[in-house]
Amino acid sequence: DISQDNELSRIPHNFCIHGYRNNCFDMREINIALVAHDGRKKELLDWVKFNWKKLAKYNIWATGTTGRLISELVIEEDGKLIRPFEKKVTRLFSGPLGGDQQIGAMIAERKINMLIFFCDNLIVQGHQNDVSALTRLAALYNIAFATNRTTADMLLTSELIDDPEYSIELPDCIASYANRTL
Ligand code: PGA
Repeated sequence: DISQDNELSRIPHNFCIHGYRNNCFDMREINIALVAHDGRKKELLDWVKFNWKKLAKYNIWATGTTGRLISELVIEEDGKLIRPFEKKVTRLFSGPLGGDQQIGAMIAERKINMLIFFCDNLIVQGHQNDVSALTRLAALYNIAFATNRTTADMLLTSELIDDPEYSIELPDCIASYANRTL
């Protein structure tokens, strides 16, 4: 049994990283990552416009270009033109330049608990491996995850999003994998 020498084997069943509550994602703070491929950026921007008041309550992260476009969005509110996300979006690298991987790492670190990712399903991306890696981690870590507008609308209007009692449970397979015997 070589598991004693395996760094991962020392991670306790309910491991805790960065002060997050054990074994689950803390939903008291919503961190949403927004990503759209070029062919679907307009669709994502329309969705952000439609939901801007709700979205503005949460922490928003985005890949570089998606984030720039969101921060530049102009919305009319009480006869005035405002840019509600100008200072609200934390921009990572552009997706193909590492931004998708940054978001994936944040999911694994339990810093992102919702991902809205409008992938272009009609073309293969140069960074298709990164796209697959990101969507895989979103599914694995059981975060709220939408790849189309209808699901994204439903996520954002769920009662659970503002329920402080609700938390995202990490699937048992994660701890089992981390603690597997080799
Ligand atoms: P972008 O990246 O927002 O920098 O265009 C999107 C993507 O992941 O392809």
